[in-house]
Amino acid sequence: MERVKLALSEFLSERGLELSEEKTSISNIEEGFDFLGWTFRKLKGTFLGKISRKSIKNHLNNLKAIIKDNGNAPVGVLISKLNRNISGWLNYHRCASNIWKVWGFCDHWLFKQLWLWARKRHRSKGAIWIKRRYWKTIGNNNWVFNADGAYLRSHDARKRRILRLPAEIKIFRLENQERIQNFWKRKQEMFLRGDKLKLWRIQKGLCAVCNKLIYDPQDKARFDHVVPLTAGGTDALSNLRLRHSHCRLYKKAT
Ligand SMILES: [Zn+2]
Repeated sequence: MERVKLALSEFLSERGLELSEEKTSISNIEEGFDFLGWTFRKLKGTFLGKISRKSIKNHLNNLKAIIKDNGNAPVGVLISKLNRNISGWLNYHRCASNIWKVWGFCDHWLFKQLWLWARKRHRSKGAIWIKRRYWKTIGNNNWVFNADGAYLRSHDARKRRILRLPAEIKIFRLENQERIQNFWKRKQEMFLRGDKLKLWRIQKGLCAVCNKLIYDPQDKARFDHVVPLTAGGTDALSNLRLRHSHCRLYKKAT
């Protein structure tokens, strides 16, 4: 066991990661294991990464807390807080192999919570009044929670394109690193827009300050002006550089 851990530590450190002693447990791959909110399991020879039960439970608890904490807030505020939470969670789990099953479950659970919340908020009103007040028919969905022009988003992630790593690539082989990196870059591009996407392509995904890969460009990439706005620089693409949000010590190009 210790030898496995040692080998794993070396393997990870070559990739800039480390093994946390207290979080490490070694388990049978058929049983599966939980890691970073996912359950990994080998089923009939296929390696699956699913959102773990614990992660779903935490997510639903967060939603519950938001409903509780905003019980008296304007409903539009409640909806935008729920939406932000759901989007963030889906973003993290967008490639999980069980995302299609999870969304129906989460939406149904959230509906029940909001129904209880509405009944409590309007004790003297009946079910039909409540349905009319907060739920609208949009397309073929008769139950879209809405108020003040805000609409609750669904956990439906089916419309997102899912780019999967080709099965023949062994992800833990160093010689495949470049292929994996290219694949991963393509995946990031799906979630970038506008100038960020253009610069990301020009800079090949590298940070303009430290020249290392930006792992989460959607959240962690920031723009820098080559010639500062105060010195007459513009927002044109040619005057912008993409960098890690933590790489602030940017020397101006001369
Ligand atoms: Zn950097």
